[in-house]
Amino acid sequence: MNVIPLGTNGFFPSFGRETMCFAVPYGKTLIILDAGTGLYRLAEPIGKKLLTGVENIHLFLSHYHLDHTFGFYGAFNLLKGKKITVFGSRPKKVFSELPALGYFPVKYDRQFSDFNFKQLTAGKQEVDDYAVFVKKQYHRGEGSLALRFEFISKYKTSLAYVTDSEPTQEGVKFVKNTTLLLHEHWFNGNDLGREKGIRLEDQLIDGHVTTIGAALIAKEAKAGKLCLAHHYPFYNAKQLENQRELARKIFPKTELALDLSMVSF
Ligand SMILES: [Zn+2]
Ligand SMILES: [Zn+2]
Repeated sequence: MNVIPLGTNGFFPSFGRETMCFAVPYGKTLIILDAGTGLYRLAEPIGKKLLTGVENIHLFLSHYHLDHTFGFYGAFNLLKGKKITVFGSRPKKVFSELPALGYFPVKYDRQFSDFNFKQLTAGKQEVDDYAVFVKKQYHRGEGSLALRFEFISKYKTSLAYVTDSEPTQEGVKFVKNTTLLLHEHWFNGNDLGREKGIRLEDQLIDGHVTTIGAALIAKEAKAGKLCLAHHYPFYNAKQLENQRELARKIFPKTELALDLSMVSF
């Protein structure tokens, strides 16, 4: 299977990188992880190709911060004609408050009539013929969800998507032996890396797991591969490569998630 990163930044778009959004083609279903500004790439040729022949959209939201939901500003138009299910921590109609506040000039219920908003609860749930495991994360007290997809019946492979998270042993357990770990990382990993006796629990900065934290989690969980995402928007390509090299010292099978660079798992 493949993941096509449509947006890989945290916070805001920069250096040609949109904010968090990943597409996972699965037959007539397109699974989408988060709906940051990367969702707008569905208007581009690569996005149109991804949508060709697709009937269902399964859109999973880690949480509702704008770098993970801003795509909803155009989602009703980008996903026209598809049967859309949005899975989140609440059955919340994303952005439905905004028309009344003057931010969003649409008749919400009409434009989003093909959208079904479903609540994910902690534990295992079956979605069609694949399984999703859900874990609640603290994320500055506002909460977010870690997601683990098992495509065992068809492809014998798994994908864990962990962002806006915290470095804990429960987190390691949740992603144990996953084929691909798509994990957030954040700045300042360099500085922390110079300290002796690195502790997983210390790898938290500003509500995010550091680069070193992501590598430690991948190593302890024996992940098949680590793909770093939720990039710090002030970092250029070179600075991100430095982060990748830092992570590789701990977990050699580390790559950067880069916009439009497909990752197989
Ligand atoms: Zn974020
Ligand atoms: Zn967040």
